[in-house]
Amino acid sequence: MQERHHVVVVGGGFGGLQLVHDLKGAPVRITLIDRRNHHLFQPLLYQVATTILATSEIAWPIRHLYRDRPEVTTLLGEVQGIDRAAKAVRLASGRAVHYDTLVLATGATHAYFGHDEWAAVAPGLKTLEDATTIRRRVLLAFEQAEVEEDPARRDALLTFTIVGAGPTGVELAGIIAEMAHRTLPDEFRRIDTRRARVILVEAGPRILPAFAEELSAYALRELGKLGVEVRTGTPVTDCTAEGVRIGDSFVPSCTLVWAAGVQASPAAQWLGIEADRAGRALVDQGLSAPGNGDAFVIGDTAAVKQENGMPVPGIAPAAKQQGAYVARVIRARLTGQPAPGPFRYRHQGSLATIGKRAAIIDFGRIKLKGGLAWWIWGLAHIYFLIGTRSRFAVAWSWLWIYLSGQHSARLITQKETMRGDG
Ligand SMILES: Cc1cc2nc3c(=O)[nH]c(=O)nc-3n(C[C@H](O)[C@H](O)[C@H](O)COP(=O)(O)OP(=O)(O)OC[C@H]3O[C@@H](n4cnc5c(N)ncnc54)[C@H](O)[C@@H]3O)c2cc1C
Repeated sequence: MQERHHVVVVGGGFGGLQLVHDLKGAPVRITLIDRRNHHLFQPLLYQVATTILATSEIAWPIRHLYRDRPEVTTLLGEVQGIDRAAKAVRLASGRAVHYDTLVLATGATHAYFGHDEWAAVAPGLKTLEDATTIRRRVLLAFEQAEVEEDPARRDALLTFTIVGAGPTGVELAGIIAEMAHRTLPDEFRRIDTRRARVILVEAGPRILPAFAEELSAYALRELGKLGVEVRTGTPVTDCTAEGVRIGDSFVPSCTLVWAAGVQASPAAQWLGIEADRAGRALVDQGLSAPGNGDAFVIGDTAAVKQENGMPVPGIAPAAKQQGAYVARVIRARLTGQPAPGPFRYRHQGSLATIGKRAAIIDFGRIKLKGGLAWWIWGLAHIYFLIGTRSRFAVAWSWLWIYLSGQHSARLITQKETMRGDG
């Protein structure tokens, strides 16, 4: 095994896992490095943040996924740099891992447009820790409002602001509004949770800009029915523990969530190649780093163009297609077969939910909205989860909520000092 061509994959997200999956049977040994011990299904992260699903329903230990693949070694470690001359990956522990072929699939995270100080008061949603932080803050805000004597402070506690109206912002706003208006009212005695305000702020002219205008207009109407206040065309100019400045007006709001902006992992820096404004590595159409035929960059951390000149979107199917493509390239190189042509992205559609009963799906020529779209969205997501247990668990949680309206994962964990608690 040690003599085999060594492929080092950094990142066990959608791109990295697809690559390892598709290299099955190839004459390689693989080392998969991730700084977390689990693969995370990010599209359902908002459901952990909004108390619908438990963390273990959308994440799986990477090591366990490869228990039957002796040629795959899993390492828990944080990559901090690459020595191209020595063909080695440098880990935070100081250890070096040598490669014959390197694939960087380290993803992206949210960006605060130069205001990183906002992160403490307006957490983004990227990891399980982020999701449980948001869940805790949302639930604590209702608890504090219940005991608050000052009406102005109570109103601020019952005002939830989500910044950024892409799919994640819309999904968070819809569920938080449903919780406040439909799930919680019977459980509180001193406050009427139906008076809670959920504000969705978008700097651009409309919500869900990646979707067709008619679907974005439908989503806007559905959010209105759920009681979400949508403010478009106005950027957020400040975030503090007391509230948010939207354009020129200050809105007292104790719970802020950041769902705007993207910043790629520093893969381009590690390789010493150019990056775009979001930090994505500018790779060639074969997804390899210029001047580095043995180093590939895939998924959210790579900047690649589609045939129409538009960038390949930062979504899970794109990362998976790139992982599958690089697996074909590596296999062809090692078996003497002709190399595949340049990478071509096939868009399979865009999906988003609004609350627990409506969704929009944009397949290009076919556009769906409403309950049917929600069912298709649900089935597609259950299909893409890993393992029978997770599929049953998520399907059961959704069915239960659909029938009873009750969220089962309403736990406040990792106690954070309640504001005003001293
Ligand atoms: C809240 C949210 C909702 C989303 N919803 C959707 C959706 O509905 N549909 C959709 O298609 N896409 C959605 N996306 C986007 C989708 O999740 C990404 O496009 C996809 O995960 C990209 O895959 P990737 O392999 O490039 O990176 P990721 O899946 O992000 O994986 C990157 C991996 O690299 C690891 N890593 C990072 N840096 C290091 C390092 N230095 N050392 C070691 N390991 C490292 C990380 O721990 C992670 O496991 C969503 C994203 C988020 C955050």
